[in-house]
Amino acid sequence: MSLRFNAISSISKETEGIPSKPSAKITGIFGESVFTLKTAREFLSDEAYKSLTTSIKGGKKIDRSVASQIANGIRAWAESKGVTHFTHWFQPLTGTTAEKHDSFFTLKSDGTAIEEFDAAALIQQEPDASSFPSGGLRATFEARGYTAWDPSSPAFIIETGDGRTLCIPTIFIAYTGESLDYKAPLLKSVEALNKSAVEVCNYFDKNVTKVTVTLGWEQEYFVIDEGLANARPDLVQCGRTVFGAAPAKGQQLEDHYFGSIPERVYAFMRDFEAEAYKLGIPLRTRHNEVAPAQFECAPIFEEVNIAVDHNTLLMDVMNRVAKRHKLVVLLHEKPFAGINGSGKHNNWSMATDTGVNLLAPGKTPKTNLMFLAFFVNIIKAVHDHADIMRAAIASAPNDFRLGANEAPPAIISVFVGQYLAKVLADIEARVGSKFDEQDEAILKLDLHRSIPELLLDNTDRNRTSPFAFTGNKFEFRAVGSSANCGISMTVLNTIMADSLKKFKSTVDELIEKGEKKEVAIMQVIQKYIVESKKVLFEGDGYSEEWHKEAERRGLPNLKTTPVALDALVTEKAKHLFESNGVYSHTELEARYEIELEKYIKIVQIEARVMGDLAINHILPAAIKYQNELLQNINGLKSAGLPETAYASQLEIVKQVSTHIQVIHTKVNAMVEARKLANNVEHSREKAVAYEKIKATFFDEIRYHVDKLEHLVDDDFWTLPKYREMLFLR
Ligand code: ADP
Ligand code: MG
Repeated sequence: MSLRFNAISSISKETEGIPSKPSAKITGIFGESVFTLKTAREFLSDEAYKSLTTSIKGGKKIDRSVASQIANGIRAWAESKGVTHFTHWFQPLTGTTAEKHDSFFTLKSDGTAIEEFDAAALIQQEPDASSFPSGGLRATFEARGYTAWDPSSPAFIIETGDGRTLCIPTIFIAYTGESLDYKAPLLKSVEALNKSAVEVCNYFDKNVTKVTVTLGWEQEYFVIDEGLANARPDLVQCGRTVFGAAPAKGQQLEDHYFGSIPERVYAFMRDFEAEAYKLGIPLRTRHNEVAPAQFECAPIFEEVNIAVDHNTLLMDVMNRVAKRHKLVVLLHEKPFAGINGSGKHNNWSMATDTGVNLLAPGKTPKTNLMFLAFFVNIIKAVHDHADIMRAAIASAPNDFRLGANEAPPAIISVFVGQYLAKVLADIEARVGSKFDEQDEAILKLDLHRSIPELLLDNTDRNRTSPFAFTGNKFEFRAVGSSANCGISMTVLNTIMADSLKKFKSTVDELIEKGEKKEVAIMQVIQKYIVESKKVLFEGDGYSEEWHKEAERRGLPNLKTTPVALDALVTEKAKHLFESNGVYSHTELEARYEIELEKYIKIVQIEARVMGDLAINHILPAAIKYQNELLQNINGLKSAGLPETAYASQLEIVKQVSTHIQVIHTKVNAMVEARKLANNVEHSREKAVAYEKIKATFFDEIRYHVDKLEHLVDDDFWTLPKYREMLFLR
């Protein structure tokens, strides 16, 4: 029996033996496996505790002797929880997380065995990391990279079976100083934004001394039975199905969205949520998504660097816990063709240390002007750097999703809602007429009274926008589900930091020329609205008209990763990132190389898997079926029946034959095309060549394979079908 039928017949037995744990009270377990400040207070001396907190708040360096006390405190806590090993935990540019476990156990010079965790082990490690992507920054024969403790993100304990490992969040850098991960540039971008946002805030409120970035991600994912997934080599190797005919019932009835969660998935959710709570991940929401077998979870928002850690950590936890339930989580952006893909909406805002959300309309004209300044600066930033935002979300898997079934198109635009669109239009309409201090436009910006209106405005239309204002935050909806949020957050923070910096200097110039502060601010706001309005779009982002309109406005629609990535290495981008202290030119070029490499490898693997499945699964099934038909035809013939008695069989044989010929020819042609592509030296050209392979062969081969799936005897078909993967659990 094929894996497929084995898997189907054992599905109902799968959940037996998985204990259904009673839910613990969330507050009772929340943060249990995290070295929180509260725990730190218990395990650290006054001096060590104080040093740790000032380092977290002000980014101050912790000196070695104190670090050694902190290390001891962390070890004491970890050992009390049964931990034997520790690891530096980091986010290399592969997109997953990395760990290398060492034990506390060591031998003294006289052979005495002790457990130890010293300052050096806490602060810095040199993983044998020469095979992480570095974009040429760190040739393997040169000095290696090292990981360095990031005290702003707390240590935590990962449970794997009965094992317990202490994880120290770190950044990953080359010995020459360049960053090799998602975290280091993110922290730099947060600092850049903090600096320029505080200066702009001080126009309105001198008490603001710090601005933090907040992120609340919404993670979409698919869950399918492990047995079925294992019978699909494409899911195992690529995380998506490269073939599969559309099932009779897909998502057209829309009966899955917000429907009741299937019991088996519900048990899995409760289980991974419990793990997440222990790790301090504040999950809040769970529900079904639009496509069958698709779900979403979302936490309460947090400071961006913690939120990014928590998202990457959660993706690991989900994968691990799913195994326990004999399920597989698919975080891929487009695991199944023809139905919705998965995104990771990044809800982004900024908050002051005086407790103000800078993207929430205020209650007084003054705070409203502050809101408007930040709001318009974002629009300006997106307008000026839409290309870089597009590059930030570019990946081979996201190419399948953007612009397809209910996903935003690759055109970057901003949705602000009817009400704010009108506010902006009113301000713009006054071009030429000067603002004065008593100006109604400034004083009567009573946005706060319109908050209900703002929220009402938050209708379904924003779902079609890649970047939408949703009442008190912007939602970057185009981010892919498997992406590390770090990259898109780094880009948003940096373009905003840059915009605010320029805003400040333009306003200051006007003030120096004798303009009143509020009037100067209003003038620059107006200027920005005029300059950036072409990026505003309130309509249906999925529609064909928008594609035409965007083209008319000159907004690019870059559908593929190799061209979208160009924006990372323009003079504009280099200047932007370097002048804000986020990436040096070298770092940017290295990232660009890494992203191209990733793209090439992913498409290459998919092409190989396609060839393998076509030749080793699809064609044999088709040929077997054809033989059966031929046997039948011959039997009927020799029994003396007329041709009309086997005309249909003959017709099927012919159809099957046609598909077989096309598939075989195309797979061979694709192999040849790959050989040519592999000889291309330059990585951008190579990526383009691979994109071309994808465009030329993938859909065509798939078309014929999916036709065969409809023709061939179900018994011969070895790959689980869409209806099985999406609906059986
Ligand atoms: P939806 O977008 O589905 O309507 P919500 O508005 O409740 O859902 O929030 C979605 C996500 O946005 C949640 O993770 C939430 O914590 C986050 N969020 C809310 N306010 C902010 C904020 N000020 N900054 C960042 N994220 C936020
Ligand atoms: Mg949302």
